[in-house]
Amino acid sequence: MVNTIYIEEKIRTFDRTKKILSKFKNSRHIYIKQYSEIFNIKNQNFRIQKSNPSLILAFKHNNYVLNTPEGFGIGSKKNYYFSHMYNCIYDCRYCFLQGMYSSSNYVLFVNYENFLEKIYKIIEENKNEELTFFSGYDCDSIALEKITGFVSYILPKIICKKNSLFEFRTKSTQLEPFLKHQPYDNIIIAFSLLPEELASKLDHRTPSIAKRIISIKKLSLSGWKIGLRFDPLIYHENWEKNYEKLFQQIFLNIDVRNIHSISFGSLRFPKKMFKKINKMYPEEKLFSYDFEIRQNYLSFNERLEKEMIDFCKSIVEKNSKNIPVFSCTPF
Ligand code: SF4
Repeated sequence: MVNTIYIEEKIRTFDRTKKILSKFKNSRHIYIKQYSEIFNIKNQNFRIQKSNPSLILAFKHNNYVLNTPEGFGIGSKKNYYFSHMYNCIYDCRYCFLQGMYSSSNYVLFVNYENFLEKIYKIIEENKNEELTFFSGYDCDSIALEKITGFVSYILPKIICKKNSLFEFRTKSTQLEPFLKHQPYDNIIIAFSLLPEELASKLDHRTPSIAKRIISIKKLSLSGWKIGLRFDPLIYHENWEKNYEKLFQQIFLNIDVRNIHSISFGSLRFPKKMFKKINKMYPEEKLFSYDFEIRQNYLSFNERLEKEMIDFCKSIVEKNSKNIPVFSCTPF
């Protein structure tokens, strides 16, 4: 899966580095001073590199936990995110990472302890506030778990933290770290979903929607709280029929009492990123839509977006009036 692993000298002797390297029997190891030497090289081709990405093991020095962008949240006043990785093993056509980074190599920061310290510090400084921490902003939080062990490390240390919700957002079906534990109400495993008709065209290399729903069912039967994330919500031919079918599949399989929340997010691309992504996939039908520009983002027009959200909300309400619904858009 990974032919070349770059390793920062600083973490060469870390136990976690050795453990991760032991999982790759035949990879070539190259020692470097800083991950940016490789990751930030100019004129890399994200799309070509994506067919055979390298892994870069690195030490993160700062910015372990950041504020989420405006409008991103599921009810708490203060919202943060943390990413133990940059980039993702999946290849969704609408993914903003391909517009953000020039490299599709995976960077894995192995000093997990520093992320945890910063999370504890924020909780300590905000004792009287409700906080939500999101894992999986610059990566999928669980997809590479067999290699990283990040969730297994952090989960036992954040359960039961007062006033703090933690959301692990994913398209993965790697559930072991959760199934090994009893469920805790402050942990949400949130799945990104699209109608299968779209996912099969846009969510490359991801588990199918049917497989994701089986995973959601397993987790919810074990008592874990589930987040359902329709972010991005995508307009397409027969969108009403397809989203209705998706919700039917979900509500047929999942006990609504274990759904923590549902959120909708618009398909949105910062203007500059859109240019870059569109250039990578000029044949992609999704990018040929006549998007509207709103606050420096390209997205579907406001009326259409509202129509889609209202339509989906009405299906949710028909099935349950008690599921909190949120909108995650910067507009
Ligand atoms: S799962 Fe998320 S992070 Fe990974 S490629 Fe898809 S959109 Fe990007």
